Amino acid sequence: MLQVLRRVVQEVNGAADFFEALHIIVTRVKAALDIDVCSIYLKSPSSGRLVLMASEGLHAESVGQVEMDPSEGLVGLVASRAEPVNLDSAQDHPRFRYFPETGEERFLAFLGVPIIHQRSMLGVLVVQQREARRFDDEHVSFLITLAAQLAGAIAYAEFNDEISSETPLIGHQNVEATGIPGSPGVAIGHAVVAYRLADLDSIPDREGAGPEAELERFRQAVSDTREEIQDLKQRMGEALGPDEQVLFDAYLMLLGSDSLVHKTEGRISAGQWAPAALRDTVRESVRVFEDMEDPYLRERAADVRDLGRRVLSHLLPADRSQDEFPDGGILVGDDLTASHLAEVPIERLGAIVSAQGTGSSHIAILARALNVPAVMGVSDLPVGRLEDREILVDGYRGRLFVNPNAELRAEFERLVREERELAEDLRALARDPAATRDGHPVPVLANSGLLADIKPSLESGAEGVGLYRTEVPFMIRDRFPGEEEQVRLYEQIVASFDPMPVTLRTLDIGGDKALPYFPVQEDNPFLGWRGIRISLDHPEIFLTQLRAMLRAMLRASREHDNLQILFPMISALDELKGAMALLNRAREELLDEGYRIPMPKVGVMVEVPAAVYLAETLARRVDFLSVGTNDLVQYLLAVDRNNARVANLYDTLHPACIRALEAVAEGAHRAGKPVSVCGEMAADPAAVILLVGMGIDSLSVSVSAIPRVKWVIRSFSTDRAEALLAQCRLLENPEQIRSLLNNALVQAGLGGLVRAGKT
Ligand code: PEP
Ligand code: MG
Repeated sequence: MLQVLRRVVQEVNGAADFFEALHIIVTRVKAALDIDVCSIYLKSPSSGRLVLMASEGLHAESVGQVEMDPSEGLVGLVASRAEPVNLDSAQDHPRFRYFPETGEERFLAFLGVPIIHQRSMLGVLVVQQREARRFDDEHVSFLITLAAQLAGAIAYAEFNDEISSETPLIGHQNVEATGIPGSPGVAIGHAVVAYRLADLDSIPDREGAGPEAELERFRQAVSDTREEIQDLKQRMGEALGPDEQVLFDAYLMLLGSDSLVHKTEGRISAGQWAPAALRDTVRESVRVFEDMEDPYLRERAADVRDLGRRVLSHLLPADRSQDEFPDGGILVGDDLTASHLAEVPIERLGAIVSAQGTGSSHIAILARALNVPAVMGVSDLPVGRLEDREILVDGYRGRLFVNPNAELRAEFERLVREERELAEDLRALARDPAATRDGHPVPVLANSGLLADIKPSLESGAEGVGLYRTEVPFMIRDRFPGEEEQVRLYEQIVASFDPMPVTLRTLDIGGDKALPYFPVQEDNPFLGWRGIRISLDHPEIFLTQLRAMLRAMLRASREHDNLQILFPMISALDELKGAMALLNRAREELLDEGYRIPMPKVGVMVEVPAAVYLAETLARRVDFLSVGTNDLVQYLLAVDRNNARVANLYDTLHPACIRALEAVAEGAHRAGKPVSVCGEMAADPAAVILLVGMGIDSLSVSVSAIPRVKWVIRSFSTDRAEALLAQCRLLENPEQIRSLLNNALVQAGLGGLVRAGKT
């Protein structure tokens, strides 16, 4: 049975379209179980009725015709109960409903199992047999297993069909796809699929012009590609800092590498024509990268593939599309990488949607730096069918809508307009410090990791940098940066904000943030070697970084000690002691070398549940605490922050998260130390009210969120925020809490910020 199951699932996944997929299921199941009928009923998203979509055994003309409400018939019973119904004689059941067009009166035995994908009922898989019999356990469990396995494939095929069919049977407007937020913002635009680069897999084997001529052609293509990337790097340089441009150096390096260029040349010399030689080399190295355990290195497979296509497009110049990129166009791709932006005039780019990747992929980091909305990891996305389709992108919630109807489009147009107006209005307030209505200051600082963030942060009214993720510049290099290199980097950021505080977090690699040159292979990377654990195990790396931070402080500002150092992922007092000992050592070394370095302020990130319980103890040893809600929430709720499948369970307004934050605030304040929040939660307007109510002393958010967070703070008094927090303590689930807080925002005249739930 397992063999049959595997074969059916494989065939369905490879089906050309939705109807072929359904046809495969009914024919294969009927044959495998040796029964008389197998049918599939699917629920129409528009009417909610169950429609017979495919059958092997019932009259063909009834397909597409027979439909019923979930309150009717035996199929309706399976759907409404969400469990199997197994009957030896269907006709004797009180829920039996007869449809003459099916001819099913001939069949007595009935077994129906529900098809459920991510908790939503897609339909019912039914088998029937002429003679009265009860299907045995083996049949039932086979069908349940098959339905569970096929649910994802059916959802994908259905989605595909909804998007592409002009007159689909099950409705095709406002097709929603969900992924992971990559970069905040909303956008409306037409899809431009990044398949325009030549397709390597379609390259046939053929006679070339002879090794010499083919080699010449290939080398020319490599050199053209190199120029193209240099050019892109320069163009992007206007929008990005020099630091981020290092991304493109990785491409240039690959272009000179043995694995790509020399191996292709070897194949050409052995007689292959250039495009096929390139195709085989790329396939080979993609396989090597894909087999790697480390997620960062696996991502490099996409870079190799992308680079291969790029070289190919120069080998086959005639195939290169010169189409114009439409204004506000939405770049859509299966696995978008930084180099896909080469296809796009940045000023016209409306949004980015990638079927693969997460919020920490390069392209998402770039999207945030460019202030372009992005949705990542939309796994059900049939990229090839999206070209030119109208798409609505919601980068806040990580979702998109294809083929919107007029109503939904109008709603998004309103959101885009409001966002633009709001941004303009709020820019005027940027200079005012953030304080509650009763004058209690709650400074809003910037989260950063890119030098390109400095200018926009200052323009948006950031009152310092609450979190500078030093691993970002480490991630886009091809080796650990040296002490002097780091000093120059940190100095720029500390000097730009002087005298405002700049919080440099020490290296937080591991988890989903891997360095290409420091691979770590683990089964559970989020529970593994990450953050401070790596730093303590590698004092040589840690000391270099600490020395660079201290020297940067001295160089950047002789008058103000505006540098703060923050340790990530602290889960025990001993870790803090170890980190402090190394910080003291780094300072002593520098003092010995003649640098007159004051002691900077030191903070601990609270992002592991253990640190919540140790908040007071930790706070007594340092100058401040900073809560990293992105990790804290994932550890408290046991929900991977990058897994789209459980994204609906990841909710910062979960009562447990609120209580944990209150405990941290109380602990820090008992120790007489301030506490800030620097995770994404601090950028959520509803959550900001609660954080103010708890007495959180400052917030740190991504640049684009600064104006709206300031607006929320300025719209509430501390009393009102405390009262709302007290009301939320009595509520049971995140939905109730969000609804209460959204109402409060609307009442305070901040309805424009309450976009969630409306669309
Ligand atoms: C966090 O965990 O909330 C945080 C700010 O750190 P990062 O997102 O870099 O893990
Ligand atoms: Mg974290």
